[in-house]
Amino acid sequence: MYAEDTIVAPATAPGQGAVAIVRLSGPRAIEIARALWYPARDGEILPRRLYLGEIRDPKTGAAIDRALCVIMPAPNSLTGEHVAELHCHGGVYLTRRVVALAMALGARMADPGEFSRRAFLNGRMDLTEAEAVADLVAARGESALRQALAHLGGALAERVEGLRRQVVGIRAHLEAEIDFADEDIRLPSRNEIAQDIKRLIGDVALLHDSFERGRIMREGARAVIIGKPNAGKSSVLNLLLGSERAIVTPIPGTTRDVIEDSIQLGPYPLVLQDTAGVRESADEVERIGIARTRRHADEADLIIAIFDGSRPFEHEDRDVIRMCRERVGVALLNKSDLPQVLSPAKLDEYGLEMPLVAFSALKAGGVGELRDRLERAVEVLLSKRGENGENGPEGVAISRERHREALARALDALESARRAALSSMPPEIVAVDVGLAAEALASITGAVTTEDVLDAVFREFCIGK
Ligand code: GDP
Repeated sequence: MYAEDTIVAPATAPGQGAVAIVRLSGPRAIEIARALWYPARDGEILPRRLYLGEIRDPKTGAAIDRALCVIMPAPNSLTGEHVAELHCHGGVYLTRRVVALAMALGARMADPGEFSRRAFLNGRMDLTEAEAVADLVAARGESALRQALAHLGGALAERVEGLRRQVVGIRAHLEAEIDFADEDIRLPSRNEIAQDIKRLIGDVALLHDSFERGRIMREGARAVIIGKPNAGKSSVLNLLLGSERAIVTPIPGTTRDVIEDSIQLGPYPLVLQDTAGVRESADEVERIGIARTRRHADEADLIIAIFDGSRPFEHEDRDVIRMCRERVGVALLNKSDLPQVLSPAKLDEYGLEMPLVAFSALKAGGVGELRDRLERAVEVLLSKRGENGENGPEGVAISRERHREALARALDALESARRAALSSMPPEIVAVDVGLAAEALASITGAVTTEDVLDAVFREFCIGK
């Protein structure tokens, strides 16, 4: 076991509630819990069962709370260490008092994520599972939840481990070439090794490229609302958000900054961005806003393009059409309640590729259909980003930059190994690159890791997790 000391922290969110759980982990966890909690009845306290009792200040004997206690001796516990939990009444002062009593008996306040870190270090879970716990807690919708649960069940770890085993297999062939160079054994040729590496590159790239899909499932697709000033961007945003988040005004060019908020579309979160209108302007502030619109449109996953049906076609509309090219999204011909000046045929003529919907932001009725269309657009996006069954909407996807970076490193190393294999470099050289690829893959699950990586992973956890 890695830890010498015993840690304590509330495992429930701060604030008043029905129950507050104070969790202890470490060599003295059970001893400390038992020193301040007194069972209501005599008899043995068995592991993993809840018992009713009383928490008392061991110094004065004063009662603090009626509480339940459960003990989980090492190694069959969350952290792999001795663990004890006190289920107290959910009071803010009360919880603090119980934690303070445990500290007076020698426990130390846990750092953020320290319970999970200990679980990882004691082999109770790998890094992808630890990250999945954080994702599960942070999940704001069904798609994020499903993905976190799949990772928690080891789906990502298994996939990465499968790739790593293949890399190790290739390395074994190279080692054999080094060891048995002088003997008459049939070993795979350099060409065969290069072929194997090439296949592996394909598999690693597939997982690497699942990042966009994983990110969309976890954090939501980013949609940007574009259109010339006064087309109704803020009105559509407000309608989708169901509140007055952006300021709607009849003066053109008032939404200068980018406003961001998220909504839930069925199982998917959608992050909405309203931007400054697409308009050529001498006004410096507004010009910056427009450049930003273009950048945001380029970076967004989805485009919501708004055209003003009550106004004639203007050159700004052409810019909007251009930004829609080859993109997934929805185009609205807004202000359908007013006499129509701009016809769909005109937009078609200028090359609008997105499906166009007649819409009125003023009459709230169309918002249901808009939401449906956006949900379908997210599905199109997900299917585009998962081009075959394995990487398809139901397949495993990486969801974090950390995973993507490690896979990119593995790809670089494999490419370099393939080049070395083809150019008849000594097997030792090829083996070094193959080894680097194996290491990069191992860093995803944490089979090979550093303190820095652990700090980065567990920093985002709250205290008590
Ligand atoms: P933005 O500059 O693109 O963000 O446009 P706004 O949402 O601020 O809307 C500009 C003006 O058009 C406001 O006065 C809105 O009330 C009005 N407006 C927006 N959508 C509609 C609509 O569907 N019908 C009508 N009649 N007016 C609308």
